[in-house]
Amino acid sequence: AGNVHHLFIVLGASGDLAKKKTYPTLWWLFRDGLLPDDTLFFGYARSPLTVPELKHRCHSYMKVRDGEENRYEEFWKLNYYIQGSYSVRKDFELMNQELNSHEPSAGANRVFYLALPPSVFESVTTNLRNTCMSIKGWTRIIVEKPFGRDASSSKQLSDHLASLFKEDQIFRIDHYLGKEMVQNLMILRFGNRIFSPTWNRQYIASVQITFKEPFGTEGRGGYFDQFGIIRDVMQNHLLQILSLVAMEKPASVHPDDIRNEKVKVLKCIKPVTLENVVLGQYIGNPSGEGEATEGYLDDPTVPKDSNTPTYCTAVLYINNERWDEVPFILRCGKALNERKAEIRIQYNDVPGDIFEGKIKRNELVIRVQPGEAVYIKMMTKTPGMTFDMEETELDLTYGSRYKNVKLPDAYERLILDVFCGSQMHFVRSDELSEAWRIFTPLLHQIEVEQILPLPYVYGSRGPPEGDEISKRSNFKYYGSYKWIGPQH
Ligand code: NAP
Ligand code: NAP
Repeated sequence: AGNVHHLFIVLGASGDLAKKKTYPTLWWLFRDGLLPDDTLFFGYARSPLTVPELKHRCHSYMKVRDGEENRYEEFWKLNYYIQGSYSVRKDFELMNQELNSHEPSAGANRVFYLALPPSVFESVTTNLRNTCMSIKGWTRIIVEKPFGRDASSSKQLSDHLASLFKEDQIFRIDHYLGKEMVQNLMILRFGNRIFSPTWNRQYIASVQITFKEPFGTEGRGGYFDQFGIIRDVMQNHLLQILSLVAMEKPASVHPDDIRNEKVKVLKCIKPVTLENVVLGQYIGNPSGEGEATEGYLDDPTVPKDSNTPTYCTAVLYINNERWDEVPFILRCGKALNERKAEIRIQYNDVPGDIFEGKIKRNELVIRVQPGEAVYIKMMTKTPGMTFDMEETELDLTYGSRYKNVKLPDAYERLILDVFCGSQMHFVRSDELSEAWRIFTPLLHQIEVEQILPLPYVYGSRGPPEGDEISKRSNFKYYGSYKWIGPQH
């Protein structure tokens, strides 16, 4: 126990998130030598498990490569498993004794990762606070969404956490904040002179932030049905991106300076109203294959009369001097035609046109996934004898510009940030509360008035009404742009 200075405890170690994300992330960080040398790992759950059993459960997600086997065994040698309940204080006292027995007399820092359903959040955090805090080092708590279902349940959870821990001990994960291109927004915006002068209502026509998934609920819709796409993706991931796109320049890159600006811009957004929203729910495609033939309501775990949206486009407005009247179009959906997350900044038409209406708008596209890229769609003279023009691009494709760079997984960055104590990429409670303020009235209306979503076919681009609302919101689609990918 001589040199142990960090204990990482996974609560809910027997679960889905733990095996698919938490343990693989810990292993990759350990493999790459990124964690402090002196870290031990503890799993905690009610199931009677041993470390070999835990290892077996996680194995297919760990992606162990040839030559890494010894390192992999070393990782598991640093693992322990503790069985206990989530409600009984005595069990947490026993966990604390076990943790103490591995610490040197100087004590150790402790990270508790809650990979647990929300129903046990309150009792677990209370027990941790009462029995398991590090005496001589720091204690940090990582929590995962859902952070409540609406403004009041989220406030209850935030108040509860605030009664136990200080804000700098609470790390709320929104894994989009761990993505390369989302982190890049700050540098693109504030590290380049060319963008900032035009980053406002005078030059920008609309902003589109899109998340698309090509698969449905895959038989696990029962969980999704309690939340729906707005809570699952829009209220958190898309709104976080929006705040980074729209915020004013922070006083410094200090996490609290950044988060102050994010909160400020969110405060300028009025709650979303139904007239600015298109809701959809996918139906099966009779000529599709496999899952594609099944609609959302065909999932046996989904109630037959569910009105839960699996698609949403919502237009938000920021009532400040920079953005007044500029539509921010947030779009997300399951069972669509492709996997994609991107930000599209569309510029205004060129005033004083001398080219007989041939000019298409400039667009700055930041593709978050897959295939990270930043490109600007722009007009150029068609090369050759003619004096015609066409759309082309200035293109930064990471896959060719940064060929040998391995971009870390979002969770890897975020968990490392927790060890470092950096909260820049985590959601502060006041941000969360603003995010819920913006969406709660809409969510309640959908539930109370049983608003019906529009049907769209599995594998399509979503309901056509989604394109119509984008069009009305000053986003122009031309259908004339041709992308010629890298030549092999
Ligand atoms: P899970 O597998 O259902 O639950 C994790 C563990 O909690 C289970 O192994 C079980 O362990 C215990 N548990 C489950 N239901 C319980 C109940 N009703 N009462 C008491 N204990 C219970 O959940 P998960 O998918 O890992 O997700 C954990 C948290 O992360 C949730 O808040 C979820 O929303 C969030 N999340 C999950 C994912 C994902 O990919 N799965 C992604 C993002 C966020 P024992 O029975 O052994 O105690
Ligand atoms: P685009 O073809 O002009 O399309 C712009 C966006 O309009 C599309 O992404 C699509 O998004 C939406 N759209 C498609 N059909 C529509 C319709 N009927 N009505 C309204 N909106 C419609 O330009 P682009 O998507 O920027 O580029 C075309 C292709 O080239 C893409 O696959 C892009 O990834 C690729 N490209 C790659 C790079 C690179 O890797 N560096 C650079 C440039 C272009 P939704 O389906 O999401 O609505």
